[in-house]
Amino acid sequence: MSPEEGENLGIRQFDIILVTGDAYVDHPSFGTALIGRVLQDAGFTVGIIAQPSVQTADDFKKLGKPRLFFGISSGNVDSMVNNYTPNLKRRSDDVYSPGGIPHRPDRATIVYANRVHECFPDVPVVLGGIEASLRRFAHYDYWQDRVRQSVLADAPADLLVFGMGELQVVEIARRLAAGENVRALRDIRGTCCTMELAEWRSARPEGIVEIPGFAEVSHDKTAYARAFALHYHEQDPVRGKAVAQPHPKTVVIQNPPARPLTTEELDRIYELPFSRREHPSYTKPVPALEPVRFSVTSHRGCFGGCSFCALTHHQGRIVQSRSSDSIVREVTRMTKMPGFKGIIQDIGGPTANMYGLSCALWEKCGACPDKRCSPACKTLRTSHEEQCRLLARIRQIPGVKHVFIGSGIRYDLALADDSGYLDAVCDHHVSGHLKVAPEHISPGVTRIMNKPGREVFDRFRARFEARQQGKKKRQYILPYFMSGHPGCTISDMVDLAIYIRDNNLYTEQVQDFTPTPMSVSTCMYYTGLDPFTMKPVHVPRGEEKKIQRALMQYRDPKNRALVTEGLKRAGREDLIGSGPGGLVPGKGGAAFRLRRERAG
Ligand code: SF4
Repeated sequence: MSPEEGENLGIRQFDIILVTGDAYVDHPSFGTALIGRVLQDAGFTVGIIAQPSVQTADDFKKLGKPRLFFGISSGNVDSMVNNYTPNLKRRSDDVYSPGGIPHRPDRATIVYANRVHECFPDVPVVLGGIEASLRRFAHYDYWQDRVRQSVLADAPADLLVFGMGELQVVEIARRLAAGENVRALRDIRGTCCTMELAEWRSARPEGIVEIPGFAEVSHDKTAYARAFALHYHEQDPVRGKAVAQPHPKTVVIQNPPARPLTTEELDRIYELPFSRREHPSYTKPVPALEPVRFSVTSHRGCFGGCSFCALTHHQGRIVQSRSSDSIVREVTRMTKMPGFKGIIQDIGGPTANMYGLSCALWEKCGACPDKRCSPACKTLRTSHEEQCRLLARIRQIPGVKHVFIGSGIRYDLALADDSGYLDAVCDHHVSGHLKVAPEHISPGVTRIMNKPGREVFDRFRARFEARQQGKKKRQYILPYFMSGHPGCTISDMVDLAIYIRDNNLYTEQVQDFTPTPMSVSTCMYYTGLDPFTMKPVHVPRGEEKKIQRALMQYRDPKNRALVTEGLKRAGREDLIGSGPGGLVPGKGGAAFRLRRERAG
């Protein structure tokens, strides 16, 4: 983090300097620390410039000029998602900053790349992290309500690493160290590069999928949806092809995704000597660290394919799991770390219960392009036996008092399991609440979201409730529901509100759909089309979106007018009033409210 630290380590010039929008926290769930440790493990020296001030160039110059390249990342989160609420209000805090004080500029990737390029125009610049990864093609930007160019066309950068990035950054570093020019690094899987328009016109590479270009997708929503479906289908490391998208001044080329890491590679990465602490120069804690300080990543990838999640475009559908021996070693090391109080906060990945699951087709054919992975697939191994064994081993480690599962559980998979996973989770791995995300209960909405339907959630609740019999301390399901998703109407939200009421699932927590870059749902939000069928999709906006959100919190007095309006629009005036089925009081509702408050 400083030239003095470098000198103490005998480093006069860093091989690579990573610039990040997050504070520097040496923990494997912080991307910059992970990439830094991996590069160091491969024999390179790495400097970190964390949260530089962008007012001047001073912070960008403080570690000098790197020998090989600058790596630029907005941090663990897209800077616009991080800096603004779903209602487009600026947030006053940033959990990835010391003391929660924001330091991250909007569109951090582009801003940092410009600064670096101004200071060191001859040094290669490589973009990475979630913001770069999910903005690698022309994309709809919710914050400007328009289609933006690929970040690689907007920033003065040579390469863009997408996905998790370890294999790519090491290959880039090795090839640059061997004397290759960065412009020659056009064949690295898991990276995007650019090509001059003239070269593209005269010597277009073979076997590349060309998708509609920026000029087309920024004006034609059908072309946008077509482009999305085309690049979505090429995000498979086994069968995916390279994809090209022309832009006004360049052509962005995405090479096929990096191959999945082997178990041995993942084990090695997560067993690197992370201190799990903030950099000692910080005087205030970084809030994002505390909930994950003693958590463990057991696997990567998710085959769930929820439409509103862009993970398919980042980590992919193929699940890559660590060995249980490696996880046990990591937990054992944690038990000896300062501050460890016997609690493992999470063992998981994008979806907790995909550890050790796999499909027989993945290795040779990749994930099926024409169908979604689900327990109905005969080739998908759904037994959670390996997870149960792993959790049992961790519970036995001396010094470990509790092992929690904080990552979400995919309940259709848990139901398909017959090795006692759900029982083990209820008995040992949740405290009061088990988080699950049905997101909705209306069949039309869950289909568009690509989530299991209401009947699967009901079966899961029944299994969970059965497990509560005889327990001294009762546990509860904490469901996450979403409003405002494409395909969701006010009537669907009324149905959801009734379901929440009738099943005692009311929570203060509301997720209102936000169109973040590169998810299927964002494509639907922008185009009003399902990109895979090209059929129109209803998109709630403006007041309708507010009504939908309010319907989920129908008990909140400040939502009364919106809920009443929503019930009227849905033709459900029968739910207005102080009768037993009323969701909101009608006229003269004060007495009703008072009765309800008294009843608790
Ligand atoms: S068979 Fe099913 S689980 Fe396997 S890749 Fe195809 S869709 Fe996914």
